[in-house]
Amino acid sequence: MHELSIAVAVVEQVEEAVREQDRAVASLTLRIGELAGVVPEALDFSFGLATEGTALAGARLLIETVGARGRCEGCGRETPTGMPPVLWCAGCGTPLTLLSGRELEIVRVTLADEPLDARKTVDGKGVGPPGGKGADDGPRPAPSGLPVRDEEASHVPHR
Ligand SMILES: [Zn+2]
Repeated sequence: MHELSIAVAVVEQVEEAVREQDRAVASLTLRIGELAGVVPEALDFSFGLATEGTALAGARLLIETVGARGRCEGCGRETPTGMPPVLWCAGCGTPLTLLSGRELEIVRVTLADEPLDARKTVDGKGVGPPGGKGADDGPRPAPSGLPVRDEEASHVPHR
């Protein structure tokens, strides 16, 4: 499944690009030609795996598909090649020059509003709720009556 290696390469590129932003990636748009040999569903699945634990974790993958088109050098006709592609001119039989359809490029990256650290804290279960522990710890120092009682108790034997 070469979609996985494509996904990993894309994730590495984007991580490199957003490293100094310190923000999570909200979405990523790829332009993929229909002759690029990429199955969008497989790429989407691979993207989910490749983004785990990265700044792209949870980012939405958007795919723009580019239709394959060729131009005939013989008669100048421009035509979609179709799928599977027909790479010669329907009019005169001359091989077509491919104009589009092999694209595999990152079009845009959208960053999330929250800083990357905030998202990490939310994802890191157990790290997040110090507030809950604090609430439990809070009431404990309150019964300061205990030391007072001890003092009284210690005074009693002296009398
Ligand atoms: Zn032609």
